[in-house]
Amino acid sequence: MGAETKKRIYFFKPGEADGRTEMRELLGGKGANLAEMSNVGLPVPSGFTITTETCRDFYTSGKQWPEGLEEELDENIAKLEETTGRKLGDRDDPLLVSVRSGGAVSMPGMMDTVLNLGLNEESVQGLTKRSGDERFAWDCYRRFIQMFGNVAMFIPNRNFEVVLTAQREKAGVQYDGQLGAEQFKEIVQEFKKIYKENTDEEFPADPKEQLRRAISAVFGSWNNPQAIRYREIHEIKGLLGTAVNIQTMVFGNMGHSSFTGVGFTRNPATGENKLYGEYLVNAQGEDVVAGIRTPKNVDEMPEERLAEFTDPQLSPDDARKLYSEMYDRLTDIKRTLEEHYTDVQDFEFTAQEGELYMLQTRTGKRTALAAICIAVELVQDGLIDKKTAVMRVEPNQIEQLLHKQFDEDAKAKAEVEGKQLATGLPASPGAAVGKIALTADNAEAMAAAETEKAAQTGEAAASIILVREETSPEDIGGMDAAVGILTARGGMTSHAAVVARGMGKCCVAGCGAVHLDEANKKVTIATKQFSEGDVISLDGATGQVFEGSIAMREAEMVGAFGTLMEWAEEYRKIGVWANADTPADAQQGLDFGAEGIGLCRTEHMFFEEDRIAYVRQMMLTAPDVREIERRLSDAEIRKSQTAGKDRAEIEKQIEAIKGELAEKRKLFDGALTELLPEQRKDFEGIFRVMDGLPVVIRLLDPPLHEFLPHDANIQARLAQRMGTSAEAVATRVSQLRELNPMLGHRGCRLGITYPDIYKMQVQAIMEAAVNCKKEGVDVRPEIMIPLVGAAEELRICRDAAEQVCQEVLSKAGVEMDYKIGTMIEVPRASLTADEVAQYADFFSFGTNDLTQMAFGFSRDDVGVFVPEYVEREILEHDPFQVLDQAGVGQLVAMAVEKGRKTKPDLKIGICGEHGGEPRSVEFCHRVGMDYVSCSPFRVPIARLAAAQAGIKDELAAS
Ligand code: ADP
Ligand code: MG
Ligand code: MG
Repeated sequence: MGAETKKRIYFFKPGEADGRTEMRELLGGKGANLAEMSNVGLPVPSGFTITTETCRDFYTSGKQWPEGLEEELDENIAKLEETTGRKLGDRDDPLLVSVRSGGAVSMPGMMDTVLNLGLNEESVQGLTKRSGDERFAWDCYRRFIQMFGNVAMFIPNRNFEVVLTAQREKAGVQYDGQLGAEQFKEIVQEFKKIYKENTDEEFPADPKEQLRRAISAVFGSWNNPQAIRYREIHEIKGLLGTAVNIQTMVFGNMGHSSFTGVGFTRNPATGENKLYGEYLVNAQGEDVVAGIRTPKNVDEMPEERLAEFTDPQLSPDDARKLYSEMYDRLTDIKRTLEEHYTDVQDFEFTAQEGELYMLQTRTGKRTALAAICIAVELVQDGLIDKKTAVMRVEPNQIEQLLHKQFDEDAKAKAEVEGKQLATGLPASPGAAVGKIALTADNAEAMAAAETEKAAQTGEAAASIILVREETSPEDIGGMDAAVGILTARGGMTSHAAVVARGMGKCCVAGCGAVHLDEANKKVTIATKQFSEGDVISLDGATGQVFEGSIAMREAEMVGAFGTLMEWAEEYRKIGVWANADTPADAQQGLDFGAEGIGLCRTEHMFFEEDRIAYVRQMMLTAPDVREIERRLSDAEIRKSQTAGKDRAEIEKQIEAIKGELAEKRKLFDGALTELLPEQRKDFEGIFRVMDGLPVVIRLLDPPLHEFLPHDANIQARLAQRMGTSAEAVATRVSQLRELNPMLGHRGCRLGITYPDIYKMQVQAIMEAAVNCKKEGVDVRPEIMIPLVGAAEELRICRDAAEQVCQEVLSKAGVEMDYKIGTMIEVPRASLTADEVAQYADFFSFGTNDLTQMAFGFSRDDVGVFVPEYVEREILEHDPFQVLDQAGVGQLVAMAVEKGRKTKPDLKIGICGEHGGEPRSVEFCHRVGMDYVSCSPFRVPIARLAAAQAGIKDELAAS
């Protein structure tokens, strides 16, 4: 189509429109749906939409109206005048319009709506005649000047408000609505003066001139700095511009049979299939937003008797009759909208003297609960198919449904009452109310005491909230005893956050307003001081911290939820596994549909009361054993190179070293021997739960220092047990200290320097597997070596593990498939994945470490700066929450490709926190992973996200 024939304006009137809902790009969301509603026969006041393309042409013609627009506008005005039987500026019955912006994507910064356009000194007389209400007409007029002056000419609203305030004071009234016609007339004259002072010109009296200016102002708003910035940030590209909607005015403020309101076709909070909304009698659109009067629930409409008005023009009985008719009309409209749009609509309506009009509709936003119920019911109503239903629920939203929550009203009340103290990171969702404990030990003790007290009194036990600077593995017991965790420091992948999510426990992390004074057993949150035992409430989904207790309700697992998840399974291609360290976690994962354990961390098991001492003994003696063994081997070499008298001397030395070694070995091996059966028991428990499903067990990963005792008392006790001095223990602890432990002696580096530790773990895994197999359990063990950066590291660890596996199996006379693989979490492992794959049966991406090392961000310290990075849009997301596809994602994709080049059937999964994050799940699906693994509580989210990724593929292919 050539430029001269380009259609610039699309007309709409009841039953007939040039546009359709699919033309959103050209007509904007508002315009496309006004056209669509008109086509469907809904009562939309007539009007027309200037295309977004015209807005673009406005800019390409140097902010001039593009050719042809003026003529097309004239034609459409004429058409509108004909349709409505009214004329712009008429002194008897004038045509008045609203001018509304609206792009294809709704965005802030676009020009606000101007209502009542077309009023001047003559047409205001016409409006008076038509309404029989002078006061109303002049109020409309002053509103128009105010809106036009403010939104089109940028005159600060304050200037107008001053005049209104003065008039109210003069008249001795509280609200504008109480002013009379004479006052509004005065106000209009003063507003015009203000207009002139600010623009150096008279207020335009010619309605066509008013319209031209308003249209130009809408075009202009497309490129105001706020709108440009918004599009940049949200990477909104390829839009032409904003459309301009010019629509005949209808008046909800024309007396008591007029009203205005907003509605949803179903309840957006619960999904209940019933009209939902609010309305205000005798009011114009913007009054609802202004909040001067409280709107009524549409449920009350059939019983409306106008009781709140002192002089209704309608009798209570007539009012009830009219309003219940209006309610029926709205119910019909609800049905029409849903059948037509096949989704919940959020709409605006206005009735003028008992005549109902539709002014806008769009897809309604909703809670998770509502989204699920609505999607399932729409399928049952035959309006959508299952695929569409699955796509309609935002996976992240369903997390709300998996945990306990605050009662909404109770929480709102607490907010209003100023009970909110601070906000931290929403690290693990769910709500918690409990007594403050400031140390893990106290948390355990207090929880035990509360349980005992409850047993005696027969009342429910009070819960505990653990408040810490940050948590460490030593706090596990206390975290377990608590219902919620609040930390002052640490990010979304800090210890507290990760462990809490794993436990499905509420956690607010990195709350800078928390200041601990452990010595005095006090904590200050914002400006208030609390003692241990005081009650606070946490909302882990929002990060809010409240003083006192807020009422809670159980998570609602409605029937529709199960139905939707069942449907999702039909489209999911990628597997979903769970990260679980205990049989209980494994069971939780299984209950939520996990198909395996993708990460079982062995170190958490080390912290149990009776084990930690042996773990410490093992760790404190390991360096000695290693050092003595080296001396021994050096001596052996020297011996082989020496002859005569010197050789005898060396032999003597060797004997001495052997004695020393035997002594240390006794402690070291003794510890391993104690730990072996404990670990075996842990693994047996998990294998039994996961009968028939794979279980990936990661060998020891964290730096040793995390386990070491820093407390002098504990050091002394340990020394006694090991037959050494407290000083020797203290010295060893400080020797093991590392400057950068996360980049230090950990993961397979420990496995290489202290091979016996890994050997013990592998033995425990395989013996557990053998025992379970003998019980008839279908065991599928997979041994995972962490932190590999060079293929040779994996080769060494694998060889050692393989040897132990063979020994255990042959000794038991059992045959069993097992796998040995590695985590890909050091960037170098990605870069050399083809080499690493030679020794791996599987890869599992540890994207927490991979992100940490790719960015060089310490994940335990990101709370300090990453939130600011995200706020300032230096980063789009916290990369520890949403996988950084552009950067870290390349390392992942590369490793998948290189790994599979070496081994086409290499099994590949992800076990980092990202495994339960919807966008990251889609990414994993796209790069061809076999499964994602995440906290048990995120398993349903990952399943839904995976199904959506599958559906998107199908849609793209068809
Ligand atoms: P927003 O995008 O801010 O909702 P709208 O253009 O929808 O802007 O309008 C703001 C208010 O003005 C809404 O309450 C709307 O219903 C009302 N409104 C817009 N056009 C008209 C009209 N022609 N007649 C009556 N009210 C209108
Ligand atoms: Mg609107
Ligand atoms: Mg790691």
